[in-house]
Amino acid sequence: MIGLCEAVLLVGAAAQCWARGSLDQQPLRPEKTHLSLTHDLIGFHKNLTQIESITGNEEAVGEWLVASLSSQGYSVEKQYVEKKPARFNVLAWPGKEREAKVLLSSHIDTVPPFYPYETDNKTIHGRGSVDAKGSVATQIIAVNKLLSAGKISPDDVALLYVVGEEVGGDGMRAANDLQLSPQTIIFGEPTEGKLAAGHKGNLGVLLTAKGKAAHSGYPWLGRSANEVLVKALAALMELGQNLPESEKYGVTTLNIGKIEGGVAANVVAQDASATVAVRVAEGSPSYIKDEITNAVHKAVQSFLEGDMKPEDVVDIDFPSSGYGPIDIDHDVPGFGIITVNYGTDIPWLNQTVEGQKRYLYGPGSILVAHSDHEMLTEGQLWEAVGGYQRIVLHALGKDPCEDC
Ligand SMILES: [Zn+2]
Repeated sequence: MIGLCEAVLLVGAAAQCWARGSLDQQPLRPEKTHLSLTHDLIGFHKNLTQIESITGNEEAVGEWLVASLSSQGYSVEKQYVEKKPARFNVLAWPGKEREAKVLLSSHIDTVPPFYPYETDNKTIHGRGSVDAKGSVATQIIAVNKLLSAGKISPDDVALLYVVGEEVGGDGMRAANDLQLSPQTIIFGEPTEGKLAAGHKGNLGVLLTAKGKAAHSGYPWLGRSANEVLVKALAALMELGQNLPESEKYGVTTLNIGKIEGGVAANVVAQDASATVAVRVAEGSPSYIKDEITNAVHKAVQSFLEGDMKPEDVVDIDFPSSGYGPIDIDHDVPGFGIITVNYGTDIPWLNQTVEGQKRYLYGPGSILVAHSDHEMLTEGQLWEAVGGYQRIVLHALGKDPCEDC
């Protein structure tokens, strides 16, 4: 809870401050009088985290964010990514200018399942507490603190919170239509309070085996899609040991995330499929696509009869074009540097300005994000408020703050 005088910047609140005997204070700067900024980090983070927002169901948390930022005096724009269910990105700016030099951004969707907000001795648990509502809350409080202290001007910054990061990045892809051209973008994801120098690339693969059903007593009358799939996946596991590596990002890894196939033990399986995620440490996705295609086609040769081709027994789909490793700016003094193995929305937002800087930073650890024990501490949140302030000041060419 923030006292009225501490919250400052709202005309009405300011008037009450004067009435309570603060007559020796300087008058508030007139250009900021429309703002009524909260500094209640823990409460703000709690409100965000309490609202379930698994990808596809971001409407409630988006509405809460719009209401909160509006009530603080921000101008807020909703960008609909989907009408039914209603899913929208939230763009907000505290000054007169929608177009700001520095854009802070993160995502408001989470992975399933939902775990409720719980707090115990300054440790906060709950789905999204780390990924990425910790980043959303600390970015907003950091900006509010800089504005309240007069360290930045309201026209210096804007905020962008997107839907759909956890599934394909449709929110950030849509954000390209907002026509923003900031000089610097600060992306919020859990980096343990360090600056990320880059993250691995990503390539998704969907294998669909095509079988022919038959009685299991007469398997030669059919073709088992399960067997086709098992052979193909075995080949991918072997390939996974030999994919490109780099000094910066380590080895390319391959995860068989989901397998489905068949209907019963006594039926030769007609259908089977698997989804695979490749985390790319080196090179282009097209090289890895070729390697995967060759390995799978070779693996299913024994199922081909007559003039059949490998495509007749297995489809290989790449649901998106994928991307190689992403290098990220990390030139702000005073931070530890890491590289991370997860994907982000960074590749989906086109670089619209020559020399545009991109940073990746946020509280909490990716090692607990997406798990049933997602958690961080209040101390980590406050540390990130300081970290974001330092990155924003650096991006604006201003002196680092001593108290953040
Ligand atoms: Zn995230």
